[in-house]
Amino acid sequence: MAKSLHITHLKRKPVNGLFAAVPGLGKVISGMFWKTKRKTEKTVSQETFGDFEYDLVRSARRTLAMHVKSDATLVVRAPSPMPLSEIEAWIAKKARWIETHQKKFKARKTRPLTYQDGEKHLFIGQKYPLKLTRARRGGVTLEDGGFFITTPDPGDRQRTERLLKAWYKAEAETLFEDRLSALFPLMEEKLAGKGYKKPSLKLRWMKRQWGNLHTKGVMTLNIKLVRAPTELLDYVIIHELCHLEHMNHGKGFKALLGELMPDWKHKKKALEEYLT
Ligand SMILES: [Zn+2]
Repeated sequence: MAKSLHITHLKRKPVNGLFAAVPGLGKVISGMFWKTKRKTEKTVSQETFGDFEYDLVRSARRTLAMHVKSDATLVVRAPSPMPLSEIEAWIAKKARWIETHQKKFKARKTRPLTYQDGEKHLFIGQKYPLKLTRARRGGVTLEDGGFFITTPDPGDRQRTERLLKAWYKAEAETLFEDRLSALFPLMEEKLAGKGYKKPSLKLRWMKRQWGNLHTKGVMTLNIKLVRAPTELLDYVIIHELCHLEHMNHGKGFKALLGELMPDWKHKKKALEEYLT
């Protein structure tokens, strides 16, 4: 679910630290996370109530909130001092809602990719089956009927994965550059006179981020975005472009994002559901 973006897991190291530790990279001013957030001053504990297991996030908030993540985990947010009994009473009241949503996510849970013949893989929002053929040289071609892959050993799944990922990367390089070139003028127009330069693009396979923007004018995008429809890629690019002006996700950032892409919330949600 959309809100799975903003969960704090104390088990995980802050991702920010990873970047800070890399010499020569400078400072990452923004990261677009989908699995962790770096907010602190919260406590997270694993709780059980009846049949429900849930992550309880206590913080300085004033109200109760809950959501079900795309992996069907229930997360409950509560004010720090609230007694557990009060939280549990509320969970009991919401039992039906929780069950409905957990069921939905469990049913949709995607299996890991196996890279076997016939398995479907995404490219710009469309699914194509893999068609594996034995040949001396490895290669990938996309046609209407699917991804035609030649490989010395069709049974070697890791090799197939490498071939396909190399293909994705090459495609992403062209596509992402095109989209950035198409979208940057919108930003230039909106912020005329500020002298922003089009960021240069870097592509990576990333586990926790869709993209980030670097103080040195480098936008890094997750190659995985090449699987999503272009409008969702556009959302990430516009989001990162907004960080040229605003280095956080505050009101100013959201206002600018809303002007450039009025339905960004919808896109954000769609993206999380598409590629998690
Ligand atoms: Zn951001």
